[in-house]
Formats: sequence, C-alpha cells, structure tokens
Amino acid sequence: MIDYEAIFADSIDTLKAEGRYRIFNDLERKAGAFPLAASHITGRTVTVWCSNDYLGMGQHPKVIAAMAEAIGRLGAGAGGTRNISGTHHALVTLEETLAELHRKEAALVMTSGYVANEATLATLGDMLKNCIIYSDAYNHASMIHGIRQSKAEKHVFRHNDVEHLESLLKQADPARPKIIAFESVYSMDGDIAPIEAFCDLADKYHAITYLDEVHAVGMYGPRGAGVAEREGLMDRLTVIQGTLGKAFGVMGGYIAGSRAFVDMIRSYAPGFIFTTALPPALAAGANASIRHLMESTAERERQQYNVRVLKEMLLKAALPVMPTDSHILPVLVGDPVLCKQASDMLQKQFDIYVQPINFPTVPRGTERLRLTPGPTHTHEMMIELTRALVWVFERLGIENPAINAGFGNEMVVKVRRA
Ligand SMILES: *Cc1c(COP(=O)(O)O)cnc(C)c1O
Repeated sequence: MIDYEAIFADSIDTLKAEGRYRIFNDLERKAGAFPLAASHITGRTVTVWCSNDYLGMGQHPKVIAAMAEAIGRLGAGAGGTRNISGTHHALVTLEETLAELHRKEAALVMTSGYVANEATLATLGDMLKNCIIYSDAYNHASMIHGIRQSKAEKHVFRHNDVEHLESLLKQADPARPKIIAFESVYSMDGDIAPIEAFCDLADKYHAITYLDEVHAVGMYGPRGAGVAEREGLMDRLTVIQGTLGKAFGVMGGYIAGSRAFVDMIRSYAPGFIFTTALPPALAAGANASIRHLMESTAERERQQYNVRVLKEMLLKAALPVMPTDSHILPVLVGDPVLCKQASDMLQKQFDIYVQPINFPTVPRGTERLRLTPGPTHTHEMMIELTRALVWVFERLGIENPAINAGFGNEMVVKVRRA
C-alpha cells in the first residue's frame, strides 16, 4: 500500500529540516495607511518593508475609484475567455495604453506576469522552428518554465555577462533563429542588465530580444515604461513583458511588441487562449494606474529619494547591504535559519515585516532580507528599521554574515550566485 499522506508530510519535513519551510504572513493592508497593515499573526499593526507594491499604487485614490466605478457599472467577472465573450472594452483600452506606454504596435494582457512569460516564451520557442533560446542564468522561474515548455534548444549565459553570451552566439549556426531572454531589474539582487550591449549582440547575430521589465515598469523612465525607456532603447527590443501587479499596484501581466508578433501569441498561446479574461475592474484599475504614472513623477521621485536615504542609513550602521543599482535593497544574512529568525524577531519585537528570502529563490548561503522602500515610508520608519536590524543582527550574531558564510570580505561588496 502506498502511504500518500506520508509522502506529502515527508516533503514538508525536508523543508523544515533545511529551515526553509515557508510561512505566509496573514495581513490586512489598510487602504490609505500603507505601508501599515494589520497582522493576524501578532494582532498588531506592522510596517511592511517587503512589498512589491513599490509606489503604493494599490491604494491610490484614482486606482480605487476606477476599480469601484468599473465594478459598479460592469459587474464582477469577465464572463469568459477572450475568445468566448471575455473581451470587454476595458481590456481593449488597457492594451492600447500598454502599446502606447512601450511605443509598440500592440500589446496583449494575460492573467499575470508569470503567465505572460510562460505562455509567450513557450509559444515563441515553438513557433520559431529550430530556434535557440539564450537565457540569463538569473531569469525568473516563469521564463525558465516557458522556455522549457517550448522544447527549444536552450543555452544559459552567465548573469549579465555580455562576453559569455557572445561566445555562445558565435558557436551557433547563423541560419538558426535565436532569442535572447533576460530581465532589466533583477528582483533579488537589484542589479540591472546591460540592455544596450545585449541589443547590439542581437543585431550582430540576427537574434530577437525578449525583456522582462516586471520590476521596472512604473518605476523607471520619464513615463514609467521601464529601464529600456530610461536608456532610450525601447525600439530595439522585440518583446517587452511586464506586470500590472507590482508597481502598478493591481494584477495581471502583458507583452508588447509588433502587431504580427502579438497576433501570433494571441492566436497560438494556450496560456492565453484557454483561460478566463481579466475582470473589467482590474483592467480599469491598471489602466488608471499606468495613465497616472505616465504623467506623474512624484511617486517615483519620492521613492527614489527614500531608497537613497535608507541605503545610506543601513550602510552607516554597517549592515551588509548588497550592491544594488536599483530600488531593491537586499541585506545579506547568509543562512536560512538565521534569516527566518531575523524576520520573526523583527515582527515580534518591532512590528516590522520583512519576509526572509531563502533557497530556491536565491542560492544557498546568500539568504537575505529584501527591503523595498516606497514613497509612503517615513523618515522615522527608516530610522526605526535600521535600529531594529542592528539589534537583531547583533542579537543573532549575524553582524558579519559574509565572513560567517565563508565568502570573505568581498562578499559584502559583491554577492554572486554560484
Ligand atoms: C513577479 C515576477 C514575475 C511574475 O509576475 P506576476 O504578475 O507576479 O505573475 C515575472 N518576472 C519576474 C522577474 C518577477 O519577479
């Protein structure tokens, strides 16, 4: 007899033994009071320091009003897949906005950023017969799964390594179709891809480019279209993929590209075709959020200012902030059990919520606390956080985790995955 329940329980025991069993924080965000939230774990109010609602758009009055208006006027759900009565006008409007945002001919909205990556890469790799996909070593799970599903030949290049990518491109038959797939801002390290150099290689080796701007849309560039906009490179990317769930504060994912490309994905990708469309209220909320951030730079400016201030405070307190070129401030702990303990202590002693980031999200030995300061964090909150982190790191003896983890001093300066 197979003991199914024992197999399920064993799988969990393995995680617990390694100190990386995930416990979700049971929160209630308070609209208008973010980053404060009610914790059902402690029964108190906590300050959230690890949200991907980077700009607080999830509580923006324009976004809330657009969603409430849409739900009152149009009802709750979409009513079907895009093909079978689910293509409501709010989605069409949203796709027009996204195409305009990225200065592409067309855009296509999907259920999430994850689905957009998986469905698009799986279909693209399948449609381009005999193609090779070049994938950055740090690419998100959704890209990896999409590429795997495409069954195309895959080569992984070292993270952000232009020379390594070129050495791989050089070896391939010039006649074969090629896709270079990468992200702009890498969310666990906060570093940014050499987008222009990758585009140059794409031109030289006649490849197309696929850029995940999930952690950059709303955040970078004069209209919030991402790092490619900031660097004046949007027209050089074949496909730009993004989410509506992070800086835009709502939910959903999308791709933007040429009319023919988008039409191909619309027509062939099972992950787009066979699922209920995004409800009108989500589409209306996302549209209001994008439109607002195309005009307003106040949220981005305040957020970038807060990132600079907090980074300086943490470094002054000798906390091991990993080098980052973006709004993401990872603080290295270097051990899964200590990382979890640090997070627990922050919540119990200080009402501060920072989720521990452990394997497989990051490599073993580089476990960290990932801080995402937003425009609504106050100066007092930053001081409080810095003091709390110092207290916790001292208490747990992780004030110098780089050396504890056996990486030597340079670890504090540069952490790279194995
Ligand atoms: C979060 C994330 C996604 C998935 O986006 P969702 O809208 O949350 O599904 C895709 N790519 C990267 C790099 C991400 O971090």
